[in-house]
Amino acid sequence: MICDPATNLTPMSTTFSAATGQRSAKPSALEALRAKAQKPRHYLDHAATSPLRSETREAMVEALELGNPGGQYASGRKARQALEEARETVAGILGCEPIEVIFTSGGTESDNLGIQGLFLGLGAPGATIAVPPIEHDAVLKSAAFCRDRLGAKLLDMPVGSDGRVDLAEMPSIDGPAVVTCMWANNETGAIQPVQDVVDLGFPTHIDAVQAVGHVDINFHGLGASTLALSAHKFGGPRGVGALLARRDAKVISQVNGGGQERGLRSGTPDVAAAVGLAAALTATVADMAAENERLSTLRNRLWEGVHGQVRDVVKHTNDPALPGHLHLGVPGAEGDSLIMLFDAAGIECSTGSACNAGVNRPSHVLLSMGVPEDVARGAVRFSLGHTTTEADVDAVLAVVGDTVARAKAAGMA
Ligand code: PLP
Repeated sequence: MICDPATNLTPMSTTFSAATGQRSAKPSALEALRAKAQKPRHYLDHAATSPLRSETREAMVEALELGNPGGQYASGRKARQALEEARETVAGILGCEPIEVIFTSGGTESDNLGIQGLFLGLGAPGATIAVPPIEHDAVLKSAAFCRDRLGAKLLDMPVGSDGRVDLAEMPSIDGPAVVTCMWANNETGAIQPVQDVVDLGFPTHIDAVQAVGHVDINFHGLGASTLALSAHKFGGPRGVGALLARRDAKVISQVNGGGQERGLRSGTPDVAAAVGLAAALTATVADMAAENERLSTLRNRLWEGVHGQVRDVVKHTNDPALPGHLHLGVPGAEGDSLIMLFDAAGIECSTGSACNAGVNRPSHVLLSMGVPEDVARGAVRFSLGHTTTEADVDAVLAVVGDTVARAKAAGMA
C-alpha cells in the first residue's frame, strides 16, 4: 500500500460489505483531509496576529542577508544603515526622535522593560504602580513581578462597565509612582483615556500594542515616558517590537550586555525584523483613515447580522473602540465550544482571553467590567484587519445561528 509521505495515510481506502460480498471505494482519510483543507478559511483574529503584509515580506527578503550592525566595516555599516533607517521611519510615524526607538522582541518584552524599567528607575522600592485590571498579562504580570520581587505597592485603577478606565473614581496616589495604561484593550477594543492618564503627572507606560495602525500616535505630544508596540499586530513579522522611551525617562535595562539599543536592550539586533516592522508600519498608516472606515463598516454589518439571528447576544465592544474589534457574549454557551464550532465551519476567531493550563476561565477584562460570569464564559471575539472582506462577514453570518444553537446545546462545562 502506498502511503502519502507527509501524512502516512493511504490515498484510497476500500470497505468490504459482508451482505453483498463486494468491496466499495470510499473517500480515504487523506481525501477527507484534503477536501477540508481546500474549504476557504476566514481569518478573523487580527487582534491575536495579523497576516504578514506583502510590503513587509519584500522589505525583509532584501534585508535578510544583512550582517551585524555593530561591524566596523562595509557590510556592518550597510546593516547599520538599514537599522537606522528603520528606526527613523518608526520615529517619524510615531512622533519621537530616532534615539527614542528601542527595538525589542515584541509587545511582551516592551511592556516588561517599560514597567519594570520605570519602576526601578524611581529608585524607591516601596513606590506605587497604578495599573488597570483590564491590562494584558504582559503588563499585569510585570506589575505583579515588581510587587512580589521588588517591593512595589499595586493600585488598581477603576474601570467602568464600558471597559474604560474611569479616572473620576481614581484614588489619589501618595509618593513616587509609575502609572500604566493600555491605549486600546485587546479583547473589547475599548480606547482608553491615555492622555488623561499621562496628565496625572507620573512616569507613565502606555501599552499601544493594539492601537498602533488604528489611531494617530504622537509620542512627544502625548508626553508618556514609554510606549510599547508589536509588529505582528499590524502585518509585520512576529517576534519584533519596539519600546519608545523618552530621552529623559529613567528606565533601567533588563537585558544587560553589549549596550546596543541605547543600552536598554543589549544583544545583536535583528536588522531584517526591524526593517520588516518599519515597512509594515509605513504600509499600515498610509491608508489608515480609509481602512478604519472600511473595517468599522464591515464590523457593524457583522454585529447587525449576528444580532439579527442571535437575539440574546451581548456586545462587549463599546465606542470609542478600535474599528475592527467585535467582542460578544453568548449566555448559556462556552466560548471554547463556540470557537471550535466556528473553526469547523472554516472561521478563525477566538475567545479573546488566554486559557491557563487547559482550564478555561472567564476573561479578567469582562469580569472587571462587571459582566456576569455566565455571559463572560460565552465570549467570542472577532477582530477584522487588512485581509478581511465582505466574504468573511458573510461566512460568519451564514453559520452563526446554527453554531450558537449547537454551542448552547453542548451546555456549560
Ligand atoms: N499587549 C497587548 C495589549 C496585546 O494585545 C499583546 C498581544 O496580544 C501584547 C501586549 C503582547 O505582545 P507580543 O505578542 O508581541 O508579545
